[in-house]
Amino acid sequence: MDDSTYKLILLILLLLFVAIRAPFVWSRTRTEKMVNKTTLTDRIVILLFTLGMAVVPLIYIITPFFDACSLGWPDVLRMSGIFLYLFSLLYLLFIHLTLGKNWSMHLALSREHKLITTGPYRYIRHPMYTAFCGMMVGQLFLTSNWFFGGFGLVTLLFLIGIRIPKEEHMMTEQFGDEYRVYSSQTGMLFPIIGKKK
Ligand code: SAH
Repeated sequence: MDDSTYKLILLILLLLFVAIRAPFVWSRTRTEKMVNKTTLTDRIVILLFTLGMAVVPLIYIITPFFDACSLGWPDVLRMSGIFLYLFSLLYLLFIHLTLGKNWSMHLALSREHKLITTGPYRYIRHPMYTAFCGMMVGQLFLTSNWFFGGFGLVTLLFLIGIRIPKEEHMMTEQFGDEYRVYSSQTGMLFPIIGKKK
């Protein structure tokens, strides 16, 4: 397959991401927030990740800029990137359905916030960020371009590194021992091998 076909596929995957996310963003704007821990840093890392996962890939899709950063990877690797991205999107939908009204883009808790420990949350505390990892590794393989792939991965590392400690602190403040016990039984981004809830 030539580069333009991969660009078209990435566009379809991005549109699919928007279609999955949009209903949850819409319903979340109507949920009353009780605790809002969003800081400027939090907003900056979200903005950076949006650049890495959507804006910069759009530039890759519609322009030939940075085509010189191509890694020239074989089709089999680029296609596995498509499947990894697609699988991660489906996983993201499952996570959204599990988290329901408890989801928020920013660090916040709603009035009737519940600690979710079912579905993927039974084994890991941050499955949504794991899904983002899959999407960004998929993006690197699919684009076979070190600039676009690398940019997405670096912005994701910022998001994970800065946000997870703050999010866990907020959840511990809210749920106390319930969250501490839950944390001890689950992995952060991947399941703890051999540990059962
Ligand atoms: N870090 C999680 C959720 C990302 S969305 C993941 O990667 O899947 C961020 C919001 O989800 C946080 O502001 C918090 O309010 C909420 N949240 C995170 N973990 C949760 C849990 N186990 N149960 C309920 N809400 C949770």
